Amino acid sequence: MDIPYKIYLNEEEMPKAWYNIKADMKEQHDPFLHPATGKPCTKEDLLPVFCEELIDQELNTTDRFIEIPEEIRNFYRMFRPSPVVRAYCLEKALDTPARIFYKFEGANTSGSHKLNSAAAQVYYAKKQGITHLTTETGAGQWGTALSMACAYFDVDLTVYMVKGSALQKPYRKSIMETYGAKVISSPSDTTEVGRKILEENPDTSGSLGCAISEAIETSVKTENCRYVLGSVLDHVLMHQSVIGLEAKIALDKYGVYPDVVIGCAGGGSNLGGLISAYMADKLQGKKAPKFIAVEPLSCPSLSRGKYAYDFGDTGQITPLIKMYTLGAGFMPAPNYAGGLRYHGMSPVISKLYHDGFIDEVRAEEQRRVFDAATLFARVEGTLPAPESAHAIRVAIDEALACKETGEAKDILFGLTGTGYFDMTAYASYHEGTMSDYIPSDEELEASFAKLPKVE
Ligand SMILES: *Cc1c(COP(=O)(O)O)cnc(C)c1O
Repeated sequence: MDIPYKIYLNEEEMPKAWYNIKADMKEQHDPFLHPATGKPCTKEDLLPVFCEELIDQELNTTDRFIEIPEEIRNFYRMFRPSPVVRAYCLEKALDTPARIFYKFEGANTSGSHKLNSAAAQVYYAKKQGITHLTTETGAGQWGTALSMACAYFDVDLTVYMVKGSALQKPYRKSIMETYGAKVISSPSDTTEVGRKILEENPDTSGSLGCAISEAIETSVKTENCRYVLGSVLDHVLMHQSVIGLEAKIALDKYGVYPDVVIGCAGGGSNLGGLISAYMADKLQGKKAPKFIAVEPLSCPSLSRGKYAYDFGDTGQITPLIKMYTLGAGFMPAPNYAGGLRYHGMSPVISKLYHDGFIDEVRAEEQRRVFDAATLFARVEGTLPAPESAHAIRVAIDEALACKETGEAKDILFGLTGTGYFDMTAYASYHEGTMSDYIPSDEELEASFAKLPKVE
């Protein structure tokens, strides 16, 4: 059977349940620790900050599938199912025997996969009677997605946007405001932690870690308010499992089982979601693809980080999380893939990598990433987000390797979003002014030395 350019599913084929990968993991990642007591966090510890049903999902290690409520499925119908695209034009341009497929999550106004979890998180907040949410956003995609979901479910939203991104992408703020959100550049003088960070480092361009601290502080001080996070946490990865479940249904129709699955990794949510359905095979001891995570050389949490307990934020107010981390105080250089600039990595992805279930991590340099982004845009038409272009880079490299060996591998990667708001980055690439900053071993060691001591 000929494979079409785009494999679309019907709405009826959309998954009715999320897949909870932890139910298939023989060993769980270490629990969150309470920063004051050093003891594992209980549900009660988390209730003041997070919505209750999301905490239950976060701590659930037994149910393989969790039903997606009808209200969320109705929201999903606005932009899902998303297509799996056969990259015929890219294959031709590369003259490779490999077949390349990508799952395209950018066909919605937020321009990324983040809407999958935003829809779910706001729904549960609303159901609990929460009237106000706070969050952080790096590149702006999460803030936009959450603004859309908050507008749909009628919940107030305050977004702390990393200052460097706010300057690079002013229109992200306008979109969020269009959907009714209040957007504050971080670090700001609206929180204690923001004022402290500014005092110590007045010229900082901010980081996700700072913005998280500000958003949590505000959520705790605001009545009937909770904090939500767009990546890293287990429940976010679970919401993103719709990506992998749909991809597998689509490819199964044509008898395609990928040899390689590639995803970019910032906090790990799209990667976790994309690989989920195939990782289930691996965890159950069956034949499985090779899994590759891709990150920027400037923020190499998986490839050069330590697997250790660390704070999720710069202000050190979150629970301690066991993950690959560059240190919560690490300020990555302001590269152009804002969504990949987090100091840590999802605990589930960290555990899977640590235990050898994720086969490989590649750290890529910005210009090589934009070489791939530009080629992709020219031949496939879609203008990719810089974050997504990390996965494109490695998909191209894998396809070129097939050309050398003559192997006709099936490659699947995640095209997580579009890059319309990243024209400053594309312009700098075209002008030849794009550079990259790779942290030295000394810098990383200095950051590791400040990791919290955990017995
Ligand atoms: C946020 C974002 C990412 C990275 O986040 P993950 O949680 O690692 O998936 C990747 N691509 C796009 C387009 C994003 O918006």
